[in-house]
Amino acid sequence: MSAKLRVLVLGAGFGGLELSTILSEKLGDQLDLTLIDQSDSFFFGFSKFDVMFNRKSSEGVRIHYKNINKPGVRFICKTISRIDPILRRIHTSDESIYEADILVVALGADYDIGATPGLATGGNEFYSFEGALRLREALPHFSSGNVIIGVCSAPFKCPPAPSEAALLMHDYLVHRRIRQRCTISLVMPFGLPIPPSPDTSLALIDEFSRCNIRYIPKHVVKSIDPESSTAILDDGQQLPFDLFLGIPKHCAPNVVLESGMTVNGWIPVSKTNFMTQYPGVYAIGDVTSVGTPKAGVFAEGAAKVAAASIIAEFEQGQMPEPYQGNGICYIEFGEGRVGKVSVNFFSGPKPSGTYTPASTSIAADKDYFGSSRLKRWFGTSS
Ligand SMILES: Cc1cc2nc3c(=O)[nH]c(=O)nc-3n(C[C@H](O)[C@H](O)[C@H](O)COP(=O)(O)OP(=O)(O)OC[C@H]3O[C@@H](n4cnc5c(N)ncnc54)[C@H](O)[C@@H]3O)c2cc1C
Repeated sequence: MSAKLRVLVLGAGFGGLELSTILSEKLGDQLDLTLIDQSDSFFFGFSKFDVMFNRKSSEGVRIHYKNINKPGVRFICKTISRIDPILRRIHTSDESIYEADILVVALGADYDIGATPGLATGGNEFYSFEGALRLREALPHFSSGNVIIGVCSAPFKCPPAPSEAALLMHDYLVHRRIRQRCTISLVMPFGLPIPPSPDTSLALIDEFSRCNIRYIPKHVVKSIDPESSTAILDDGQQLPFDLFLGIPKHCAPNVVLESGMTVNGWIPVSKTNFMTQYPGVYAIGDVTSVGTPKAGVFAEGAAKVAAASIIAEFEQGQMPEPYQGNGICYIEFGEGRVGKVSVNFFSGPKPSGTYTPASTSIAADKDYFGSSRLKRWFGTSS
C-alpha cells in the first residue's frame, strides 16, 4: 500500500457520506479518498414526501456536494460506467479511470419500473425524486375516487414508507376537504406493516382504521391495466383506481449487476465487516443482501462497521465488533405526528423492535436526525 490510504467510495448517499466522514475524521492527512456520485446533490429518502405533498421546494431539500470540505476527501460528480472488483478499478462515462487500495460500493438500489406491466403508463411512483415531482404536479388535479398505494415487489426501501404515504395522503385529502369523496387502500406484502415490531404495527393498523384506510396485507400488485385503471394483485384480485401510487420493483444499479459482484441481484457481504469476496472491496447499504431492511439508518450502521474495519486494517489495529443490524426508523403518522421504532436484526434469536408512540416531540427528533447528519457530512444543517 502507498503511504496514504487510497480509497474510492462509489456513491455519495447515506452510506458513502457516513463512511467518507469517519475515514476523514480518523485518518485526516493519511487519507486520499475520492467520493464519486452521478448527482451533484444529496437529499434524504423521506424528503420525497415533502416534495410530493408540496411542503418544500425541490431545491429546498437538496444539499450540494460542492459543500463537502473534509481533510483527505475530494468529491467528483461523474457516472460510473464500469467496476472491476479484482483490480479495484472503475471507469466513468467520460472514459476516466480511477483505482485504489480500497474500493467501497455504496451505489444504493435502483427501480425496475418495467417489471410491473402497466405501471409506467397507468400509474405513478413516489420512490424516485422525479416520480415525487410528477406527483406534486398531478395531485392538485385529483379531486375524487379510489387511491391505491401498492407495493409491487419486495425487498423495497424503507418498509414504513408505504404506510406513511397512506397516512400522509389521508392528511392531504382532509386538508383539501375532499377526503369523504375518496377511498385509500394500501397493498403490502407483509402480514404486519412493520414485521419486527408488533406494537408499531398495531399502532399503524389502529391509525389506518381511524383514518378509514383499507389495509390489504400479504399481497403485491403484479400489474396495472391502464385501459380500465385497475390494479391486479398476485392472487388475481382486481382493484379499480383513480390514482395509483406504486412502490416499484427494486434492483441493484446496472453497473453493479454488470460487475459480476452480485448473487441473486444484490452484493453478498460479510456481516462482520462488509467485505465482499474480493480483497479490499467493501459494499454497504441498499446494494447489499446483508439481511437488514434497505434504509438509510442501516446504510449508516454498515458504514460505521466498514470504516472501522478499513482503519483497523490500515493501522493494523483491532477489528471492530460485528454489525448488530440496529437502527431507529421514524414513521410519519400525519397531523405533524411522528412515531419511532428502534429495531434490531442480528443480536437476538429473531428481529425485534421497540415502539415509541407518535407525537409532535418525536417529529422534532426526526428533524434533528436529518439536520445533525447534514451538519456532520456537509457542515450545514439545512
Ligand atoms: C419515500 C422514501 C422514504 C424513506 N424514508 C427513510 C427514512 O425515514 N429513514 C431511512 O433511514 N431511510 C429512508 N428511506 C430509504 C433511504 O433513502 C435509503 O435506504 C438510503 O438512502 C440508502 O443509502 P445508500 O447509501 O445505500 O444508497 P443511496 O442513499 O441511494 O445512495 C446511492 C448513491 O449512488 C449514486 N449512484 C447510483 N448509481 C451511480 C452510478 N452509476 N454512478 C455514480 N453514482 C451513482 C446515486 O446517485 C446515489 O447518490 C426512504 C426511501 C424512500 C424512497
